[in-house]
Amino acid sequence: MREIEEFEYIRGGSIHRITTGTPIKTGSWRVFRPLLDQGLCNSCKLCFWLCPDSCIIFEKKNVQINYEYCKGCGICAHECPKKAITMEREEAKS
Ligand code: SF4
Ligand code: SF4
Repeated sequence: MREIEEFEYIRGGSIHRITTGTPIKTGSWRVFRPLLDQGLCNSCKLCFWLCPDSCIIFEKKNVQINYEYCKGCGICAHECPKKAITMEREEAKS
């Protein structure tokens, strides 16, 4: 096996975008959608930091969910310390 020389490094994968979902709209295939109760939210921003698709937005301390890109994974609802987000099944589309 060849030894790695000083300053040489092995190229691995590289991340070009912070979010995975930006180019992929999910509206037609999401099964569950997160619903927010603003009255329970304390604006801790945990959902904002943990959403894998960066589709939770804060505007003037109000949480908003961008449903065009939300894939309904439920991480925000699971991690919300105030239980302000619940997951509801999308209405069946015919
Ligand atoms: S994690 Fe819950 S309480 Fe915190 S900002 Fe998000 S919705 Fe609000
Ligand atoms: S369910 Fe919540 S965590 Fe998952 S993509 Fe949608 S907003 Fe982000």
